[in-house]
Formats: sequence, C-alpha cells, structure tokens
Amino acid sequence: MAHTEGTPVLPHWIGGAEVASTSGRTAPVFDPALGIETKRVALADGSEIEAAVAAASAAFPAWRDLSIAKRQQIMFRFRELLNERKGELAEIITSEHGKVVSDALGEIMRGLEVVELSTGFPHLIKGEHSENVSTGVDVYSTKAPLGVVGIISPFNFPAMVPMWFFPIAIATGNTVVLKPSEKDPSAANWLAALFREAGLPDGVFNVLHGDKEAVDGLLNHPDVKAISFVGSTPIAKYIYETAAKNGKRVQALGGAKNHMLVLPDADLDLTADAAINAGFGSAGERCMAISVVVAVEPVADELIEKITERMSGLRIGDGRRNCDMGPLVTEQHRDKVASYIDLAVQDGATVVVDGRGIEVDGDANGFWLGPTLIDNVPTSSKVYTDEIFGPVLSIVRVKSYDEGLELINSGAFGNGTAIFTNDGGAARRFQNEVEVGMIGINVPIPVPVAYYSFGGFKDSIFGDTKAYGLQGFHFFTREKAITSRWLDPSHGGINLGFPQN
Ligand code: NAD
Repeated sequence: MAHTEGTPVLPHWIGGAEVASTSGRTAPVFDPALGIETKRVALADGSEIEAAVAAASAAFPAWRDLSIAKRQQIMFRFRELLNERKGELAEIITSEHGKVVSDALGEIMRGLEVVELSTGFPHLIKGEHSENVSTGVDVYSTKAPLGVVGIISPFNFPAMVPMWFFPIAIATGNTVVLKPSEKDPSAANWLAALFREAGLPDGVFNVLHGDKEAVDGLLNHPDVKAISFVGSTPIAKYIYETAAKNGKRVQALGGAKNHMLVLPDADLDLTADAAINAGFGSAGERCMAISVVVAVEPVADELIEKITERMSGLRIGDGRRNCDMGPLVTEQHRDKVASYIDLAVQDGATVVVDGRGIEVDGDANGFWLGPTLIDNVPTSSKVYTDEIFGPVLSIVRVKSYDEGLELINSGAFGNGTAIFTNDGGAARRFQNEVEVGMIGINVPIPVPVAYYSFGGFKDSIFGDTKAYGLQGFHFFTREKAITSRWLDPSHGGINLGFPQN
C-alpha cells in the first residue's frame, strides 16, 4: 500500500543509521488501544534487502576478529543501557502492540536475561584441545561464527523474541539482519540504536522492515548463512523448507495450542489464578498462553466457578493505564478471535463468559475483546483445534488422567503444557509421557530461563535447534577441528601411507 502524505514512515536501520525507504511501499502501524494509525512502516524492496545484507557482510570480518574482551565490553554496556532505559522501550511496545506496560517490561526483562547470558559467551564458545594425539601432533577445536544471519520475528513479543537470538548471534561474532513484524516494528529500531550507543560497530546489527518480499529476499540471499524464525506454523514450515533448500542453517519456531491438565487433587485456587494469568495475560497473544484447561472430573464445575469469579475482577483497557489486559493487536485479528465465540455456539459448546461488548478503560475505537470462557468445547471444533491467539479460554472435561494425556498428545502442536496437581508421582509420570517441549508443574507458563533452551515439539518447531541457551550458542557457531604439528628434531620424515596414530 502507498503511504498517506504526512504520516511518519519508520525507516530501516542499515549500517548504523536510519535509512529511509525508497520502495514506495509501506504498511500501517496502529495504536491498538486508540484504534488509530500512528505511523507507517517501510516495506523493503530488492535494493534495500541488498543494502542490508551488504552492510552486514562488510561488517563481518572486523567484528569476527575483534578481541573477545572488546566484544564482551560492548555486550556489558548494552546490558547496562537496556536495563537503565527499559521504560522507554516498554512504552513503545505498548503503543504498537497494546499489551499493558508492566507486561511489556516483563518481556524486556526476559530478553535481558539472554543479553546477560550472552555476556558470558567466552566461556560458552571455548573449544577443546588434545595434546599429542600422535607423536608431536595436537588436535583442537574452535567455535567460529557463521557470517550474516537473518532473524525474522512475530508481532507478539517485538523485543523479547528478537532478543532470544541477536545477543547470542552478535556476541559470538556474527552480523545480523533482523526483519521484525510489520505490526509493531519500532522496538527493533530502538534496540539497534541502543546497541550502537553501547559501542557496536556499524553494520553488525541491521533492521530491515518489510513483508514477504523482505523475508524471501533473506531466504534466497547467498550471503545469508542462517535463519532464525518465530511466527505461525504455516509460515515457519515455509521458512524451514525454503531456507533448507537454499543450504542455510535454519530454526523455525511455530504456533501452539497449550493445555493445562488439572487433576482432582489440585489446589483449585492456585489453578484458577494460573488459568487467568496464562489464559488472558497479553490478551492471550502468547505462544505459551494456556488456551485449553483439561479438567479431570469432578473438578470442572468448581474450577469454572473460581475462574469466572476472578474474570469479573479483571480491568480491561489502555495498557498505559492501570489495567490488567489491553486490546488485541489489530481490528482484523480482534474480529477473527471474536468469530470463534460464534463458532463455539454453533458447535454446541457453552459460552460461560462472552468478552464481546465488554466495558473498557480506554478509547471506544480500540481493538477490544474481553476475556472469554467457553465450557464443554467439543474436541472436533475449530475452537479446540485452531490456535486462536486471543483471550479465549476453553474448558474440556475428561474422566481420567489417561484421557487428558491422550488428548494433549494427539494435538498437532507441542509447544508448552502444564499439570496442576499435588501428587508428585502423577506429575513425574506426566513429565515423562507428555509429548511437549516445555512443561510446567504447577507453573502455567513454563518459559525456560535463558541458560536452558526454548522450543516445542511437532508443529511448534521445524529444525532441530531450539532458541537460546546452549542450543542457541550451538546454532550461531560452527566448529573447526584443527590438527597441528610443529616440527621438532624427532619428526618422522617422508611417509606416503594414510596417517595412523
Ligand atoms: P506470522 O507468521 O504472521 O509472522 C511472523 C513473521 O513472518 C513476521 O515477521 C511476518 O512479516 C512474516 N511473514 C508473514 N507472512 C509471511 C509470508 N507469507 N511469507 C514470509 N514471511 C511472512 O506470525 P505473527 O502473527 O506475527 O505471530 C503470531 C504467531 O507466532 C503465533 O502463531 C504464535 O504462536 C507464534 N509464536 C511462536 C513462538 C514460539 O516460540 N513457538 C513465539 C512467539 C510467537
């Protein structure tokens, strides 16, 4: 879409500076709590993709060769600046995503954990050394960077998800082109400018705004060596297949449909609090949100009563005010999420709380949908099978642990899950039997800390390397094994046989 005269257009960040787009294409960026377009974002064309990759390629050799001590100092400085100025970033996130400011700060803190992990990179990329594998011969390994890496991120965590990747990629000596979501693109420019202030050389971290054209440009560019993607499952699959076909290293994290299994011995007050937090936090726009509560009878009625009671106390409104939950990201997404409430009725489910038409502490034009609770959701309904990605919590009643487990394991996704119980043996059995990558035991949103790795199973990930933690360091480096001999007076002379030790 061509941009409206007078509306500011967010530029790219290439080679350490803002670069205005000349593509003539832009996309709208809304303030979801006000329902108005506040700016537009550039959508890159071929020459802009080329410029971003060229800047990253040019910066690579010097960045790779900069001493570990100097790279580490920049990482520490970035950590300090981000910690000092996180309030500014949180305001930016809320103004484009809609999540409440405290939640925006929460995502920054989880991203900051990865920056902190990355400051310790010298320890995590040390190689190995074996002396005298043969007489006078040593073997050792180094962990070398890949070169230019592309990061493509979704709208729901405009700061945290990029920070799952770029701190590790940069610390280990790679240079980056980040393609953030076009729905809330400003956080990326802010982070890039802050990193420059921390001393990062120009061209090491570039932000290329755009849509499919920019993504395809990165996927097909011969100078881009690896792709880290997070987003919806169909796009994740496409990214994985295209990047792999082009010979790139790729990790592509997809969508989710996370279940909370509640056993009859669970503490129902703790469980109800957890269901509210994990179902409606960030308006359900989290890949680790709980969207289905699987209640093992006879707990469903009592649990629903406790959840409903808590829902009535939630304050919905502008994220800059003292609210618990903000709007959805766009009008179109709000309408799509709301359409599942009609579908639930058609499919024979019981709408216990309908979030449409809720009273809000905010502008009437915002993209509002209140917390919604649906009971007796048939597992054949799209309300159960689709990733709704909004504040809609489904209840499915089952008769036993085994029935609940089978339901969870039969789903297409395997991102996160949680069990609520006071029975340690049952929890341990669940941890063993469930086919899901991240598991909470009386913890509703089990996002691993930075020194573990984040990623699910099945349609929630394509590729075999998760985000951050040791797997992140593995993804952004490649090992060189070096066999070395320095001649000394005892060397063996000419021998044309195959080397034997
Ligand atoms: P999305 O898939 O629509 O977009 C993600 C990125 O892909 C964006 O940068 C977008 O510009 C780009 N993109 C969109 N369509 C494309 C196309 N046809 N070709 C190439 N690139 C394209 O996802 P979203 O709506 O921004 O984010 C929400 C989704 O992300 C949910 O499915 C959520 O579960 C998922 N998510 C997953 C995780 C995880 O770790 N598994 C974390 C956060 C979000």
